[in-house]
Amino acid sequence: MSMRLGSRLRAALAAAEEDQIVLDLAGIEHQYEALARELPGARVRFAMKACPVDDVLACLAGRGAGFDAASPGEISQALGAGASVHDIHYGNTVKSDQNIVDAYRLGVRDFATDSVEDVMAIAAHAPGSRVFCRLATTGAGAVWGLSRKCGCSGEDAVRVLDTARLLGLTPSGLSVHVGSQQMTADAWQDAVDRLTEALVALRDRGIQVDHVNLGGGLPALGYLDRSGRPLDPPLDEIFATIRAGVARLRQVAGADLDIVLEPGRHLVADHGAIRAHVVRMTARRQLSGDREHWLYLSCGKFNGLYEVDQVQYRLLFPGHHDEEHVPAVVAGPTCDSDDTFGAARFPVPVPRSVASGDPVWIVSCGAYSTSYTTVGFNGFSPLPLNLLPGEHRAKAHA
Ligand SMILES: *Cc1c(COP(=O)(O)O)cnc(C)c1O
Repeated sequence: MSMRLGSRLRAALAAAEEDQIVLDLAGIEHQYEALARELPGARVRFAMKACPVDDVLACLAGRGAGFDAASPGEISQALGAGASVHDIHYGNTVKSDQNIVDAYRLGVRDFATDSVEDVMAIAAHAPGSRVFCRLATTGAGAVWGLSRKCGCSGEDAVRVLDTARLLGLTPSGLSVHVGSQQMTADAWQDAVDRLTEALVALRDRGIQVDHVNLGGGLPALGYLDRSGRPLDPPLDEIFATIRAGVARLRQVAGADLDIVLEPGRHLVADHGAIRAHVVRMTARRQLSGDREHWLYLSCGKFNGLYEVDQVQYRLLFPGHHDEEHVPAVVAGPTCDSDDTFGAARFPVPVPRSVASGDPVWIVSCGAYSTSYTTVGFNGFSPLPLNLLPGEHRAKAHA
């Protein structure tokens, strides 16, 4: 079930005369509604870092979403976009004393944690708050594993939440993150197993949490793997596994256990696309003796496509339909060799006659494109944004 380019995005790309990132707000709204239908009753808190654009946040808040913020800066942005402070949690386990002070002043009372050190700081600077403890996962099956930096063992989680209680905080929940662009339902099954075990250990300790946060990791549909084949994540199977997992968690922790999700990528990736252009197509003999075609694009790793080491985006070349294609390595416009899609090992088919200036459409890059961009490495600015209106709260944009 790979994702095709939506008609609104296609029309905007066709009309674009300059490079830009196009985000389809109505598409993002529909994606949110579809997720809410798949997992009824779950509270969705958008992981802001995937697309920290005010209008995106406003349209999600308008549909009832909350926000997973990772810093006081993100908290302020979510508040500015109209979110209620009760629907924002501080989801980053990494925070300084000052970060906690600032979040508390902004009104946030809901904090992720994974260590006794962090819990002590929260108790000191955000007294009386609610804390949920993140369990470590292996990240297996995900395109980006995210293991080790955040999360602790089940045993540690008991210690951390016990400490929280002693210090006057409310031990309110457990969380996981199964890794970004998670491609297997097994990862959620494994997470539910770990959560179940930890819930039992907490109960034995007299700690009853009120929610479980199943994190992010839900995949986008439109990516290709590094060799250019569609990734095709088993989304239906993933949702079925999550629904069964929620039922199991409620058996252990009580039917009124709340479920929180923190999707980032899944809500926005397939509803954004980039209009770039061809800088040059070349054919050169490498030192190895191999002759290689290289396609240099106006947009690369430093101005919107940071994630090209791990995924390929579908490229469309309007006006070049039925002609011969040649395998070409695709790269961005800078002179940095890191700015090369798939680390140069995975050529993709490119129409032979593309010429400098021809438009190129890059599909499914609504996630982590506006946020992971340099201020202007090599003089290539971040791409301007073109927002297609949502169905509610549509705003005029210059
Ligand atoms: C980045 C992040 C997310 C979102 O991850 P996706 O893979 O984009 O869904 C959710 N929760 C936390 C704590 C994160 O750091």
